[in-house]
Amino acid sequence: MEITALVPLVRRIVASRVRDAATVDDLVQETLARVLAAAGRIEPGMLEPYAIVTARNVVTSLWREQDRQRRNQHRVVDLHPSEAPDADVLAREDRDAVSAALRRLGERERATLLAHEVAGQDTRSLAAELGSTAGAVAAQLNRTRARLRVEYLLALEATDPPTDRCRPVLLALSSGDRRRQREVDAARHLLECGFCAGLSQPLVDRGRSRDDEIHVAVRADADVVAARQAAREAGARLGFPPTDLTAIATAVSEVTRNVVKFAEAGEAVIELLEEPRRGIRVVVRDVGPGIPDVAQALQDGFSTYAGLGLGLPGARRLMDEFTVVSEVGRGTTVTMTKWWGER
Ligand SMILES: [Zn+2]
Repeated sequence: MEITALVPLVRRIVASRVRDAATVDDLVQETLARVLAAAGRIEPGMLEPYAIVTARNVVTSLWREQDRQRRNQHRVVDLHPSEAPDADVLAREDRDAVSAALRRLGERERATLLAHEVAGQDTRSLAAELGSTAGAVAAQLNRTRARLRVEYLLALEATDPPTDRCRPVLLALSSGDRRRQREVDAARHLLECGFCAGLSQPLVDRGRSRDDEIHVAVRADADVVAARQAAREAGARLGFPPTDLTAIATAVSEVTRNVVKFAEAGEAVIELLEEPRRGIRVVVRDVGPGIPDVAQALQDGFSTYAGLGLGLPGARRLMDEFTVVSEVGRGTTVTMTKWWGER
């Protein structure tokens, strides 16, 4: 199934819960980006149900975000100093959840995992000890990690899953085993079980970079969606309000779409800034024909293609700083920055 075939369905779900049209567009994009990112790890028959639960999760997290924003408004000024005690609590909860998850593993499973991950013993020497092969040990380690992720999330939830079918479904999602996902009918279960629908996101979404600099290769339309989503997520981590997140995501869309239209290849690099103040910087480079007259390209009404997009001038208005450096025949670099709290 093509991702684009999911658009009407996703739009219907989001539009039934959110009134503002621009926010609907944004959340539809966000949902599709997540589904796209997960497409390789879930079986094709699950794409639609996964899109449905993802759309619901995305809407819910928007509400949670706005709520949190409201509650935190009074302490926005000294958000940094007050972070320390919270971080402590979080770290403790995290440690507790990891130990609880480890306790749920079988003794041999746990010993093998710890020998490998903590003591650094390689699979070959583990295989020799266990009378097995390196390949079998590696496969077992993967299954153990998948179980550990599930048990870890369950420990954080601090509640048992509501049905007997939940654990097998979560495990099939966590291991990315598509055949197993079909066997346990994960698709249907996700639609019926809100508990598992909520946990499916972190299980399927795992493995994203958490570094301060995120690189997204830009060659095709799907990369535009990935770049806007990465910028949006990075902005959310810095605590940008939803309207700013939409602005950042839109600007990144506009500029990376130009790369797909005009250049052979490019990349978007998203940086989180702390100095001189908090902000997000996105650098989009391409190896393309370049722009002969940058000043003209930045003027309103000047468009190099007949699209409905905002173009470079529109993207510039959405950001606080915006520079374009271009060399004809070599390529273009757009550097744009949004500062936190700027109006
Ligand atoms: Zn369930």
